[in-house]
Amino acid sequence: MDPITNSDAIILQFDAKKSTIVIGGGILPSLSSLIPYSQWDVIVAIVSNTVYTLHKDIVDRSLASIGAIPLTYHDSEQNKSYAYAEEYFNQLLENHCTRNSLLMGIGGGVTTDFAGYVASAYMRGVDVVYIPTTLLAMVDASIGGKVAVNVKAGKNIVGHFHQPEYIIIDIDFLHTLPLSEWRCGMAEIVKHALVGDSTTLKLLLNKEIRYGHIDNSLFNCINSSVRFKASVVEKDEYEKSLRAILNYGHTVGHAIESLFEYTISHGDAVSVGMLVESYISLKEGMPGADFDFIRDILSTYSLLPQISFDPRQIVNHMMYDKKNIKGKIRFVLLESIGKPIVGREVSDALVMEALNFYLTIVGR
Ligand code: NAD
Repeated sequence: MDPITNSDAIILQFDAKKSTIVIGGGILPSLSSLIPYSQWDVIVAIVSNTVYTLHKDIVDRSLASIGAIPLTYHDSEQNKSYAYAEEYFNQLLENHCTRNSLLMGIGGGVTTDFAGYVASAYMRGVDVVYIPTTLLAMVDASIGGKVAVNVKAGKNIVGHFHQPEYIIIDIDFLHTLPLSEWRCGMAEIVKHALVGDSTTLKLLLNKEIRYGHIDNSLFNCINSSVRFKASVVEKDEYEKSLRAILNYGHTVGHAIESLFEYTISHGDAVSVGMLVESYISLKEGMPGADFDFIRDILSTYSLLPQISFDPRQIVNHMMYDKKNIKGKIRFVLLESIGKPIVGREVSDALVMEALNFYLTIVGR
């Protein structure tokens, strides 16, 4: 396998600050030259315990090079909680963190969301830097400034918009990523490609992106997907309009996650959602060739999971989605590939038909 020689940097200009994304392979050991670490009085890093176990040497050396204190975090949706955040507020105080300190989050989306939330609330907000280590966190969760924790009533209910100072994406972390987590990230990459990321769409068609192949082709794909997400969130930081296109596949996806009480991965749920919402798009006028193309691309990247469900229950769960207004189910549909339309109301009958179609193609 060829070593990764490509690298890139992206600067995002938001309302109140700029965020810099640096992306490459094997860049973590250069951390001290990537962030201006001497500007903060104390640096603390919340590190996923799994990542710390798998990559301890490199994480320790990189954190030592900037004088950062590691605090391990048992990353899980259960621990991405408001109650658990309080423990970290106390640990930040014990480590003498002030308004001028830096918090880092090293791990998947659970860890970056959690660290981001802690940073957004501690002393009314301190700077945060992310080092995402899953494919999903690299192309999606770490970009855009949404930070949140879960409460009993639901996921990501308590949170803020709090943009990171830096996002350092070292794709070498992906050497240890399990296949199931790889597919979650691929689902978001395909989603970006279908709602407007034509550069990544072309790369996906080359079929050079394969699990376990951490090379320049993968770098190019991640880089263009990151650039796409960055361009969308930069234009609509607070999700007032354009950013909603990123919810393609998520109306159905969230309902599936909720129906299965989060025992099904977000990636699998969104993958089902993308096909179901493409079927609805087809019935609402998207060209048949585009639908066939979407079905092919989902199949190529193993994104048609064999899940069985009761369509009526999925529709009932959609009614409770926090993004639905006044009980009306709204979708991001595709007029054609790359042309999303947001906020479209669809009849229950068509949603049921689309869900039943999914069950027939996966033989359930
Ligand atoms: P995750 O953080 O739970 O990571 C998945 C698993 O992979 C975990 O067990 C983790 O320990 C492990 N892991 C992480 N890096 C690894 C590596 N390099 N090698 C081996 N194992 C590794 O899940 P995720 O899919 O990264 O993120 C999901 C979370 O992201 C959800 O909580 C979701 O709400 C959030 N999210 C946030 C946004 C946002 O805009 N803030 C967007 C999408 C998702």
